Amino acid sequence: RAKDEGGGEHYRYEPSLHASAEERRRLEFSLRHAIERGELLLNFQPVVDAYKENIVSFEALLRWQSKEHGFVSPAKFIPLAEDTRLIVPIGEWVLEQACLEAVNWPAHIRIAVNVSGEQLIEPEFASTVVRSLAKSGLTANRLEIEVTESIFLRDADLARKALEEIMALGCSVALDDFGTGYSSLGYLRKLRFSTIKVDRTFVQGAANHHPESLAIIRAVVAMADSLEMSTTAEGVETAEEAEMIRQLGCKKIQGYYFGRPMPAEEARIVCQRKLDPSARIQPGSGGDE
Ligand code: C2E
Ligand code: MG
Ligand code: MG
Ligand code: MG
Repeated sequence: RAKDEGGGEHYRYEPSLHASAEERRRLEFSLRHAIERGELLLNFQPVVDAYKENIVSFEALLRWQSKEHGFVSPAKFIPLAEDTRLIVPIGEWVLEQACLEAVNWPAHIRIAVNVSGEQLIEPEFASTVVRSLAKSGLTANRLEIEVTESIFLRDADLARKALEEIMALGCSVALDDFGTGYSSLGYLRKLRFSTIKVDRTFVQGAANHHPESLAIIRAVVAMADSLEMSTTAEGVETAEEAEMIRQLGCKKIQGYYFGRPMPAEEARIVCQRKLDPSARIQPGSGGDE
């Protein structure tokens, strides 16, 4: 913010900068104890087949209800966890909890788990995956790992090796938030992602009739099709958007229109009844509302 105001005045902003550094330290301190205090939990958001509208998977989304800070948004605490490497133990917890929950669902429904770069390049990452699968009894092909393009920024070879290792286990890997990062198409040639997730900004752009967003979604779908990868549109909020996305050829849809991130108990109920495509998922209680 200070930057926008032009030079020469940065001292004026020091108190607020200081406050935010202080806040960060307090958040970090709390986050260190969040697992043992039982402050973390997972919500699950459905991903549906764009045509049949049945649930194909749920994405596990981490929530932190802090005793000291109240609800803290993932946009705030995930980057903090990454900077402090707390994402390694937290990510391990997420993976295990997600697998333990997914075994309760019908066998055709998969679980998608977000994994940060810091976590992925840990030498222990693949064995963490193996352990979560073994402990839960979930088969590897029901676990999908979501990574963003940013994992290729630091050590692309190491990231690629880690992904190949988990693919060899039978897990699939999705490329999340596609198009927002430091896109290089090189790794699409080298790695067999199962799915490309088209970022919400393009979906919203297309919904607002921005020709650029429409063109980009079309191009991503065409590219994914020829690479034999699936596509998921993120952030679909209305029936009109769902229809537009279908016409653009995206295979799967995720967004508030089909279901918000919801608590585990609700996801269990929803995935049992949602074998009937005419029964649209209604937003329920709890979760993100
Ligand atoms: P993401 O993986 O791209 O997850 C999708 C985000 O979009 C979620 O935000 C979800 O609640 C939100 N979303 C879904 N549908 C809609 C919609 O229709 N409209 C709008 N406006 N938003 C929608 P959330 O849960 O706040 O998570 C934000 C990010 O935090 C995630 O983005 C992911 O990058 C990260 N994250 C969440 N859980 C984990 C985790 O367990 N591990 C790691 N490493 N990162 C996580
Ligand atoms: Mg994701
Ligand atoms: Mg995403
Ligand atoms: Mg996103």
